[in-house]
Amino acid sequence: MPILLKNFTSDQLYAALSHAGVTPQVARRLQAAALRFGELPTVGQDLSRARLDQIRHLTKIPHLTLDEKVVSAQDGFTKYLFRGDGPEPFEAVSIPLLHRPDDLKQVACVSSQVGCAMGCLFCATGRMGFGRNLAAWEIVDQVVKIQADSPHPVRGVVFMGMGEPLLNYDAVVTAIRILSEPCGMAIAGKAITISTVGIIPGIRRLTAERLPVRLIVSLNSANPRQRLELMPVEKAHPTPDLLQALREYHEATGQRVTLAWTMMAGINTNADAAQRIADLTRGLPIKLDLIDVNDPTGRFQPPTREELDNFRDALRAKLAMPVARRYSGGRDIHAACGMLAGRPAGPIRAKDI
Ligand code: SF4
Repeated sequence: MPILLKNFTSDQLYAALSHAGVTPQVARRLQAAALRFGELPTVGQDLSRARLDQIRHLTKIPHLTLDEKVVSAQDGFTKYLFRGDGPEPFEAVSIPLLHRPDDLKQVACVSSQVGCAMGCLFCATGRMGFGRNLAAWEIVDQVVKIQADSPHPVRGVVFMGMGEPLLNYDAVVTAIRILSEPCGMAIAGKAITISTVGIIPGIRRLTAERLPVRLIVSLNSANPRQRLELMPVEKAHPTPDLLQALREYHEATGQRVTLAWTMMAGINTNADAAQRIADLTRGLPIKLDLIDVNDPTGRFQPPTREELDNFRDALRAKLAMPVARRYSGGRDIHAACGMLAGRPAGPIRAKDI
């Protein structure tokens, strides 16, 4: 089996290829050339023709294939439908950061799995069920392809595409290490966000490894009974245990945890919900991100303006923590949070959902 470049850190490449005379410096050149140009480096002082031929024989540079690309007419979000090692398509989204017009940047929203086993009721990916875990290179190459297609630098990565990243822990962490390497994409760890529904062993591993990434936990209800109805993960990873793991994470890393709150009208946007969040998180520094639900079935609706204002007022009154409303774009191309379902961007038909 050839050694797949883009699937290993440069340290791992060195370990795997040192028997072929590859030095740490050459390993970094291999990584840089594969990520930036999709090819092997050229012959140089540190790399003879014979050694390069040997490396060519031992390695392979894998590439995702692009099935479809579609750009939102509303906000410039771009959705890509890729295929990797298997026949199943998966999606990534390029998000333009428009708040600094003189310094435009992109964030890549990537998938970590094909489909998802978590079955959150408000999410199209959850309705697909689980397909498979993506390999590290399939995650890395989503960012590489988005960068190659973007006129602006990709400066951040969010694991908010298809799948639960902490259930594909090893590949996700390897991909993060590869993306952070200065010789490659050089995306700072603090600009990389892992979004999870609260897989407690994964949070504990992140705590132990002190990976310098941002952690977002999708909470959506602070009432365990209601959360169980919305998110089956509550059964195996109950809210009290989750909060304990987050307290340990904060104590060990000093990081403030962001809780994501997918707002569903009439369900989790009332004063009782605000009170429960305050009770649950007392003493834990958090930030709360409010996101409108995007449910193509119409079963869940975002709050009305009045409901949102009342909810925000209740949160401000009860919670001495930052509360932000996060924009989830690309609705017209089914690229917004909760809408990724591995299908082309045409109209959603009943049989799709
Ligand atoms: S919200 Fe995330 S974890 Fe839940 S089903 Fe969708 S992709 Fe999976």
